[in-house]
Amino acid sequence: MKPTVVIVGAGPIGLTLAGLLSQRDIEVLVLEAHPGLSKHPKARGISARSMEVFRALGVEQAVREVSLPNAHIRFFRADTLASEEFVLSDPPATQERGHTPAPGVLCSQDLLEPVLLAHAKTAGATVQFESRVTEVADLGDRVRVGYTQAGKQAEVEAAYVIGCDGARSIVREAAGVGLTGQTDLARFLSIRLSAPLTDVVRDRAAVSYFLGGGKGGFLAVDNQDEWIYQYPVPDGMNVAELQGDAGQLTELVRVGAGLPELEVKIRDTMVWRMSALLADTFVRGRMILAGDAAHQTPPTGGHGMNVGIGDADALAWRLAEVLGGRASERVFAQYSHERRAVARAVIDISLGNVSGGYAIDDELLLGTHYGAEPPVTAEPYAASLDAGRRLPHVVVGEAEGIGALSTLDLLPGRLAIVTELPDAAWAAAARAYGVSYVPLRSSAAGERERGGRCPSIGLAAGEALLVRGDGHIAARLSAGNVDALVSELAHTRGR
Ligand SMILES: Cc1cc2nc3c(=O)[nH]c(=O)nc-3n(C[C@H](O)[C@H](O)[C@H](O)COP(=O)(O)OP(=O)(O)OC[C@H]3O[C@@H](n4cnc5c(N)ncnc54)[C@H](O)[C@@H]3O)c2cc1C
Repeated sequence: MKPTVVIVGAGPIGLTLAGLLSQRDIEVLVLEAHPGLSKHPKARGISARSMEVFRALGVEQAVREVSLPNAHIRFFRADTLASEEFVLSDPPATQERGHTPAPGVLCSQDLLEPVLLAHAKTAGATVQFESRVTEVADLGDRVRVGYTQAGKQAEVEAAYVIGCDGARSIVREAAGVGLTGQTDLARFLSIRLSAPLTDVVRDRAAVSYFLGGGKGGFLAVDNQDEWIYQYPVPDGMNVAELQGDAGQLTELVRVGAGLPELEVKIRDTMVWRMSALLADTFVRGRMILAGDAAHQTPPTGGHGMNVGIGDADALAWRLAEVLGGRASERVFAQYSHERRAVARAVIDISLGNVSGGYAIDDELLLGTHYGAEPPVTAEPYAASLDAGRRLPHVVVGEAEGIGALSTLDLLPGRLAIVTELPDAAWAAAARAYGVSYVPLRSSAAGERERGGRCPSIGLAAGEALLVRGDGHIAARLSAGNVDALVSELAHTRGR
């Protein structure tokens, strides 16, 4: 197999990107160092915008099936898990607000990744485990990726290599890209454990249980028997020694739970350092970075993985445009510029939470406004047709399998001209300039006659939007303004 794109790393970002590229008929090879997927549930909060990406991939329902119930998406604060006095926050109100067809969920990364892997493979990607990449070289017109497999050295060539290989990315290193920011904001021992806590949390089910007195907290995996206990490692402690001592680990968990007799099975441990780091660029030649390889966000906003999923979405359609000969490689510089600004803004928001406590803002990334400075703010989401914003979600009908049909479901994942009602002139322009054409409604009159809701996203008659493959609006075009279309298309395609 000669892949067009090699993705290094089968974490959530590499697997999402593999699915998005395979759906666009691009030959993908994913090389993953480990023998299988990560067993440790790290990220758990999948926000609304990521769920919209998963909806476009066709895995939204599969992800929901392995997620916690919505009512559990709230925070618990008390001295111990079993304390009689405790405080619970409210669940996010995304469901009722109607800003998205796909509200966020709480799904452990170790349950999410198998769903993404199965989809990527079905869509046509090749995923090779036990393949540690040891060398990446940009040869000008292609890349060469060297890796070890079963003790043997192998290599593969491709048009591009995407580093989805996490915080210690070898692709980033090979590209000579530096990181700027803060490291070691805190150090945690993450203990993956099984313990019968169903009855203990029955009246207080939450996603994160913050405990007093420097005890850290519990993170729910299933809110029954499967848990993570996060222990903030004090300065100077020999954490490796602690990791090897099952008795001490069990004791830490019992103290946190406030249950001295609790039956605890330690499954796994990992140490992680809270960092706030941003790569100096996400692109160098044919080497491109996405996810933690490009940015490390403190998990205090629950957005590290979500920003990475946004990277994959922002990159996939651009790669397809370039590989299809419709866009120049300058679009990768746009990718780097836009996504760095998003990561910077989310890092800043998450750093604010480090001192002010953890926060869940399921809609934060729905409001991403490319071109604005900063492109992400903590302001409540409000739908907009401004250039740079994601096309607003409006229910436009019903569809088998997904129920309510959203405006977002109509987008083709590539550049498209979007109008409210069918418009022959814009349809012809779309054909002439090689983009898709999407009328959001077949006919206002017909829908009214059938008792339809006749919804509108707010475009005037004859107006159109040029919408990118990631659902963001490139331009709002007045009736018949083909010149503006031509100039916006040239810009969007890096011409
Ligand atoms: C405790 C904790 C809680 C978190 N909570 C949240 C949350 O609630 N929400 C959220 O959005 N984010 C959260 N995060 C962040 C989230 O886990 C990361 O942002 C996410 O895992 C990044 O995904 P990735 O695919 O970029 O990298 P990773 O998940 O790190 O995957 C990288 C993959 O690349 C592989 N790899 C590395 N080097 C090589 C090589 N040389 N060759 C081949 N393969 C290689 C690795 O084995 C790995 O499988 C949390 C993180 C932690 C530690």
